[in-house]
Amino acid sequence: MADKARIEIDADRRTFASVLPELISALRRCRLGDLLAVIGREAEIGADLETWCRFTRNSLIETTAAAGRTRWVVRCGEAPTADAADRPVGSRLWLYTNFDCNLYCDYCCVRSSPKAPRRALGLERVRRIADEAAELGVDEIFVTGGEPFLLPDIGGILAACAAAAATTVLTNGMLLAGRRLETLGSLPRDRVTLQISLDSPTAARHDRHRGAGTWVRAWSGIERARAQGFRVRLAATVSTDVQAEEFRRFLDAQQIPEEDRVIRYIALRGFATRGIALARADLVPEITITADGVYWHPVGAADADLLVASDIFPLAEAFAAVRRAVDRESAHRRRLARIFNCA
Ligand code: SF4
Repeated sequence: MADKARIEIDADRRTFASVLPELISALRRCRLGDLLAVIGREAEIGADLETWCRFTRNSLIETTAAAGRTRWVVRCGEAPTADAADRPVGSRLWLYTNFDCNLYCDYCCVRSSPKAPRRALGLERVRRIADEAAELGVDEIFVTGGEPFLLPDIGGILAACAAAAATTVLTNGMLLAGRRLETLGSLPRDRVTLQISLDSPTAARHDRHRGAGTWVRAWSGIERARAQGFRVRLAATVSTDVQAEEFRRFLDAQQIPEEDRVIRYIALRGFATRGIALARADLVPEITITADGVYWHPVGAADADLLVASDIFPLAEAFAAVRRAVDRESAHRRRLARIFNCA
């Protein structure tokens, strides 16, 4: 995300206090959601900047260091509130099975593509995760890729997850034919749901982001999965309220029930150059396991700021690490609320 800030402040060797007037002036020129970057050589700026962001309800969303300089990216204002704040941490578990993908969507939040190297969790690890997840009381498992149906052992992976909890597999729907459709057909309909991406009611916008001809193939995948007797949830990624409303009308016309609709906004992560900038503090944690470790949330499961632990096992410890991080951040927020209690 190194080039996305609207305003850049070169702090060089200055301290936070001496940069602050420039920072305030820059933020006054920003609209809600704009990004600004502070680039400096004094690492201490980071801690002060983070505290200041919490006080002022802005968000420090990224810190990167290179060649002796650190770049802090601040988003003007808070992110929209999540609708899942009451869901207990650990009730949902996400698995990124591979990261490689047959598509090259221009907003992919984890940089999946045909060129992305496969980082596979593998069937054995998934079986162990599923076993331990069942003991930990996980209600729902979400399996995502890149594109999970690229994996030769996806049938075994989904069967293991479905044995542990209700399972949803996220797919672009392109590959649901031939032996992959047979694999799908072997899975229990009452335990496996498909969430298929469809960004717009007609092909133009979907294909602009995802590639020519993908809308028609996704729709065909939706019909094939339904014909096999699976519950199918449609998931759209949109940029504006108008697009969201347009898609809602389409879903109404298709008589898709509310529980089978997902409409979310493009997140400014991965390949996206525009979208909602999300910091860790903005995201209600949904524990996410990849081949690289345990992450705070699936939307940044390739980003260092959302990595909680490198070790997946024992899963109980991974869950505990996320809960400890939640407790730490809640305590910090409560402390700031007391310090900043004005009346
Ligand atoms: S958004 Fe989904 S379909 Fe598109 S590249 Fe990323 S993982 Fe693949």
